[in-house]
Amino acid sequence: DTPLDVVDPEVHAAIGDELARQRSTLEMIASENFAPAAVMAAQGSVLTNKYAEGYPGRRYYGGCEHVDVIEQLAIDRVKALFGAEAANVQPHSGAQANAAVMAALIEPGDTILGLDLAHGGHLTHGMRINFSGRLYKVAAYHVRESDGLVDMEEVGRLAREHRPRLIIAGWSAYPRQLDFAAFRRIADEVGAYLMVDMAHFAGLVAAGLHPSPVPHAHVVTTTTHKTLGGPRGGVILSTEELSKKINSAVFPGQQGGPLEHVIAAKAVAFKIASEEAFRDRQRRTLEGARILAERLLAPDAVASGVRVLTGGTDVHLVLVDLRESELDGRQAEDRLHEAGITVNRNAVPFDPRPPMVTSGLRIGTPALATRGFGAADFTEVADIIATALSPRADLSFLRGRVEALAGKHPLYGEAR
Ligand code: PLP
Repeated sequence: DTPLDVVDPEVHAAIGDELARQRSTLEMIASENFAPAAVMAAQGSVLTNKYAEGYPGRRYYGGCEHVDVIEQLAIDRVKALFGAEAANVQPHSGAQANAAVMAALIEPGDTILGLDLAHGGHLTHGMRINFSGRLYKVAAYHVRESDGLVDMEEVGRLAREHRPRLIIAGWSAYPRQLDFAAFRRIADEVGAYLMVDMAHFAGLVAAGLHPSPVPHAHVVTTTTHKTLGGPRGGVILSTEELSKKINSAVFPGQQGGPLEHVIAAKAVAFKIASEEAFRDRQRRTLEGARILAERLLAPDAVASGVRVLTGGTDVHLVLVDLRESELDGRQAEDRLHEAGITVNRNAVPFDPRPPMVTSGLRIGTPALATRGFGAADFTEVADIIATALSPRADLSFLRGRVEALAGKHPLYGEAR
């Protein structure tokens, strides 16, 4: 068997370059993480060769005895991890998990109620040109301008006015916890299903550091690659009662052969997520985000126009508001990039700038926590970020501080 560097030197070289990038920079995109080598070993295995349409014990292909073991392990582990009655581990992504839930529970033309994309929602929660906005009527709730928190009074009012069939609680950019019980009360009042999309905070839930949506929602969706730290993919948790509909919406409703190599990697990730070391990682993730928020609330950062949305964070990310700063979101992202820190610019609620520019940054700590960062390291990172966002920062000096931190925490078997 010819190795990759011989078969395809160009792809091999680009993968090597990407590894070097991941090692030498500080990854602070809130939706990213470093999958453990064991997860990648499962994903890069011979399971990629196998067709397995159907579900464990009910397949449309022969030779599924081993992938059945693997998929059942993934199902059992994720059910135990989150205390769910039923699980579907086949969605190829978080977006597909959400699409399958909608296909299972509601009809095209029905109304969905989700958090506005511009206020922290996801594309699949009703964005105009996403499937969710094209197939369904959309009503969107918002955060309050006064405190940046989701306005539950508005959620109730919109629900009574628009009578959605599905209410979506969940977010891609929001620094606080949602009140799942309040969402469920509203859903029950108007006869809607409640879907919680915990893609961002699933790792925190698994570690017991964030309230679980599972007891409150009819259905919970998640990705497996964000705080959860597994392979790229999606999962749907539901009640036993809804599981049949959901399974048939995923297959044959939406996709053919499941990615059993990814499902194996999910199974490994769920095992890792049930262990004490994972809880410690999630604790450091939260601690890092709090340290960053506090540093950006200090007088020198405030003087350079930096604001922290909602005044802090309860989760793995901080939303930085630059409307008062000399920098826009793109310039701030570029400055941090030059210093060796990768983040993404992000619209803030009520953002006056266009989506390609924005007036904010979303900065997350999961990947660095996985890399081993603790409180002292996060204090240093937070100071580098605060300094980079001040008007006359020496970015090449900051780059040196970033390299020292990266060198302290080797990644994927790198020599120290
Ligand atoms: N749901 C939420 C809340 C997300 O933030 C994301 C991804 O950013 C998704 C769903 C979609 O996940 P994927 O990129 O795997 O389709």
